[in-house]
Formats: sequence, C-alpha cells, structure tokens
Amino acid sequence: MSKPSLLILDEPTTALDVTVEAAIVELVKDLGKKYGTSMLFISHNLGLVLETCDRICVMYSGEAVERGDIKTVFEEMRHPYTQALFRSIPVPGADKNARPLKAIPGNFPLPHERPQGCNFGPRCDYFVKGRCDAAEVPMFDVDGQKLHESRCFRHGEIDWKAPMEAMATKEKGKIGEVVLKIDNLKKYYEVAANALFGGGAKKVVKANETLSFEARESETLAIVGESGCGKSTFAKVLMGLETATDGKILLDGREIQNSPIESRDTKTVADVQMVFQNPFDTLNPSMTVGRQIMRALEIFGYGATDEERRNRSLELLDLVKLPRAFADRMPRQLSGGQKQRVGIARAFAGGARIVVADEPVSALDVSVQAAVTDLLMEIQRKEKTTLLFISHDLSIVRYLSDRVMVMYLGHVVELGTTDQVFSPPYHPYTEALLSAVPIADTKVQKKHIVLEGDIPSAMNPPPGCPFQTRCRWKSSVEGGLCEREVPPVRHVADGHQIKCHLPDDALREMEPVIKIAAE
Ligand code: ADP
Ligand code: MG
Repeated sequence: MSKPSLLILDEPTTALDVTVEAAIVELVKDLGKKYGTSMLFISHNLGLVLETCDRICVMYSGEAVERGDIKTVFEEMRHPYTQALFRSIPVPGADKNARPLKAIPGNFPLPHERPQGCNFGPRCDYFVKGRCDAAEVPMFDVDGQKLHESRCFRHGEIDWKAPMEAMATKEKGKIGEVVLKIDNLKKYYEVAANALFGGGAKKVVKANETLSFEARESETLAIVGESGCGKSTFAKVLMGLETATDGKILLDGREIQNSPIESRDTKTVADVQMVFQNPFDTLNPSMTVGRQIMRALEIFGYGATDEERRNRSLELLDLVKLPRAFADRMPRQLSGGQKQRVGIARAFAGGARIVVADEPVSALDVSVQAAVTDLLMEIQRKEKTTLLFISHDLSIVRYLSDRVMVMYLGHVVELGTTDQVFSPPYHPYTEALLSAVPIADTKVQKKHIVLEGDIPSAMNPPPGCPFQTRCRWKSSVEGGLCEREVPPVRHVADGHQIKCHLPDDALREMEPVIKIAAE
C-alpha cells in the first residue's frame, strides 16, 4: 500500500505448500522489480534463498558469520557453519545409504551461554584449541575481496574442496513381504451443507477416493501432495481414529478398515503407530519422559512388571540416542528435536510393523531435521519397519523413500519407485509439484511451471479429472475428455502408474523438470 523502499519478509512462506510458495515468491519478485523495492528475505530454506535473493548473510547465534553474493557463497563457502548447514540438507541425487545427511553435532548455544571466542567453535570440525577460543573473531574479507566475508580465523587455510569425510555406507534393508494392502479405500465425511444454520441437506467431502496400494516390510513409501489432498485422513483411517466408508485395509491379511482403535486388539494397536508432525502437542506436559514411554509399553501389553517396563524404556532412549537421564525430565525441558525423538521412541515401543510419520520433521530446525530423519532410517533398518512417510518436502522424500505416492484431491494420481516418479513421464500434477520445489544447488536447472489457481474444495470437486482445472496439458487431450471422465489408472512401466488421459506419445515426450548441469 505505501510503496515501501524496504520490505522485510520473515519466513513468509514457511507454513505454505510448495506450489503456493512458488506462486507467492513469484509475486513478491515481480512487485520488487516493478516498484524497485529492496527486500530483506529471512528464511531457513536454502533452496528458496537461492531462487529469490541476490546476496546472503548467514547468521549463527546472534552474529553474521558469512556474507557474500549468492553464487559465491553457495559454490565457494568460506565458513565452517555454512558448510555444515549445506551438508545437513538433502540435494538431488543424494542417496540415503551412500550419502547420509550429516547433522551438525551438539546444540546451538543460547545467548547467555555463548562460548569464548568463536561461537561455532564447540561444534566445528576445524576447531583449534588456543586459537579459535582465544579471542572474539572479527569478519575477514575473503581473498581480499570486499564482497565476501567470513568470521573464521582459519578461512584461508581450510581445504574447502576436500570431499566430505567418507561416512560408512549403510546397508539397505532388504524389502520383504507385503505387510499392508489397501484396496479401493474410500473415506467420505458428511458435513452440514449450511454450517452456519445447521440442519438442511448434508454435503459429502470425498477426502479419500479409491486408494489402492501395497507396502512391504522394510519399505519406505512416501505420500506427497498439497494440504487438503487427504494424506492425514488416510493416516487416521489406518490408525483406527476414523473408519473407512468403503474398501479394505489388510494388515498382514487381517481386515482392519472397520475397527476403530478402541475395539482393536493390543497387537493391532502396537503394530500400527504414528509419529506426529508437532512434537510439542503430542507429549503429555505433566508426565516425565520415562513415564510416557512406560505408559505406551503398558498399553502395548509389554512386560509383567513396572521394573521390566522401566528397563525397556531406558533401552528405547538408547535407541533414539537420548541420554538415559532424560527419563526423569519433563517435556518442557526438551528441545523440539529431543521431543520428536521421544515421540519416535513411543511409536516404536511395541515393535510396530507400520509407522506412519505425518510430516515428522517439518516443525524442526533444518540442522535437526537431518539427525531425526537419519534416526528414523536407522531404526527402520534395525526393526524392518514399513514406513509411510507423509511429507510435502520433496527433497527429503527423494532422499529417503523407496516408492512415492502422489495424491491430489483424494485420488492417487501417480505411484511408482522414487526414480520413476522423479523422472518423466510424470502425471501433470507431479510435474508441477517437482518444479515448485526450491533446490539449494546452483548446478540444478528447473523447468518453471507455476500452478494457476487454488486446489478445488474436496466438497465440490470438478467433474472428470480432479486436476483438470489447473492442468497445463489438458489441450493435448481431445474432445474435452478430461472434463467429463475420471481418468483410468495407466501402467506406464513396471510398478509405475499414472491416473491421466494423456495419449502415450504425449507422455513419452515429456521432458525432465530437474536437470543437473555437468561440472
Ligand atoms: P491433508 O492431510 O492431505 O492436508 P486431510 O486428510 O486432513 O488432508 O483432509 C482432506 C479433506 O478432508 C480436506 O478437504 C478436509 O477439509 C476434509 N476433512 C478432514 N477431516 C474432516 C472431518 N473430520 N470432517 C469433514 N471434513 C474433513
Ligand atoms: Mg495433514
């Protein structure tokens, strides 16, 4: 309104879907150009920073530690913290077994407990005693250039090109038998059409339309899609918090779609567990960590005595890499990452066969996300758990999942192995979703596709294909078929299915959205 000369954007898109985020960033950039506004873009999303900004200032514990133009800092970083940050996020092509994410060890110092000398010193791989902790570190010009600065005594002597210390490659767990089979599952909610005055006709929200898929032992199946597409609804039906409208859920061959959690036997309850998005809401604030885990063990019918359960709860703390002393702590004495570890310990307490992780790391800091993600993977390898990983972060999905299921308005629009889903042919929605993901790598080139309009309401879905109102390929299909008929499920390759009317040659000619330039 006031045509500002400076606009400060503080995490403006953190709570939004990637497709909406892409549209907002586009809008903000255009406005900046039109009015010549300077912008201060505060973000923890390095991919988004790369796509949006000209210069970057990396902060750590109250100080700027590195400053420079985007390309220089992304390609030739000169501060150990910047490097550690980049190593803790997944980049395209990284594989969970060959290149595990490297979490930054230790914790961020609080303002009143900053160390002597360099603030990052205690967590730094290049720390030298007597030097880094001797005095305040000033900002240095890197190689005498004015526009690139680093707050590190050693910035000129570290071998920045040295490859990351090879970490043990981890053996991938062998994918086993089918544990979970979903067959034409439907979940409709009935709501009053006129919520304000109540009564009157009922309307139906079709939150899940004919889901069909299988998941196997030791497998990670990612479920992706914009908010409102029905991911959590599916998780709720699987957990027994809701019952299905139609179709079947078979857990080890037993039908569970119609049994709510209170009528499930102990084994079924222990078998299907959930890690929630927000660890802050899911722990009981008035119970010690140890008690909460023991409560879960009691519910799962583990052990005959409190003594046995106490021992097991300590083992579970070992499993999630928390000190045993944490058993006596209250949730408020834990950081977000630590709380999520307790949530994970609880989910795995009864030897779960299936763990549904609904956005398990999206409420956590980037550097902590790596540690929690790798922990989940490690426990999965050990316990051979089937992991259903619900996420809107496609970088993480690509990094850790074996197969990916893309949902749109309650429909499964694409399903395949991670490689199949991340390369063409795509469902037009997957194509748009991939193009919207910001990637923190200057070598990556992306096709630019911005989805027009909002996701339609599940209460009032469009006729025909659910995606037709936003599809850029619709004109390649003749005779308005997309507007009339729900597309059939097409099998485009072994294990790869797409729900779309596009003719075969259009699918064949699709180009990759993400290209990695050769070095
Ligand atoms: P996601 O987890 O993918 O964001 P949800 O499964 O939470 O999506 O929601 C899918 C659709 O179902 C949305 O349109 C939502 O408004 C609707 N919905 C979810 N729960 C209920 C409910 N208890 N009653 C009516 N509608 C619901
Ligand atoms: Mg949800």
